[in-house]
Amino acid sequence: MENLIKKLRSRHISVTPQRLAVLSALEGRRDHPTADQIFQEVRQKLPAISFNTVYKTLEVLCRNGLVMKVNPLHEVARYDIQTHNHAHLICRLCYRIYDLERQAAPIELSPEETPPGFKIERQSVIFWGICPHCQSTTHLEQ
Ligand SMILES: [Zn+2]
Ligand SMILES: [Zn+2]
Repeated sequence: MENLIKKLRSRHISVTPQRLAVLSALEGRRDHPTADQIFQEVRQKLPAISFNTVYKTLEVLCRNGLVMKVNPLHEVARYDIQTHNHAHLICRLCYRIYDLERQAAPIELSPEETPPGFKIERQSVIFWGICPHCQSTTHLEQ
């Protein structure tokens, strides 16, 4: 808890029980949970908390770089406490997300390649495939 408080303070975000609970729910999870999964966990500690509060808290943490959103566009947002540069492997059947510890080499873009005025903030690398679990199920629809 002490180190979560430090994390919030380092980004000049005020420390609230809600923010601590959301961060602590994310810590130690490597499955990139959805907002709803985080909500289910947080409400066990803070029964009065609403989904909306959890969602807004996640947005604040994302904006301040304490949590990262892994967003494969068409699917619901997933959240990641690991904000260092790392790539993801995503199963296209069940959407399990695996971390890949090798850092993705940044692709250098020249200004001519991007739409004028576009400010790039980060690059994310996603590899799509089929996880071992899905490959072993009998009714594999590809
Ligand atoms: Zn799968
Ligand atoms: Zn990750």
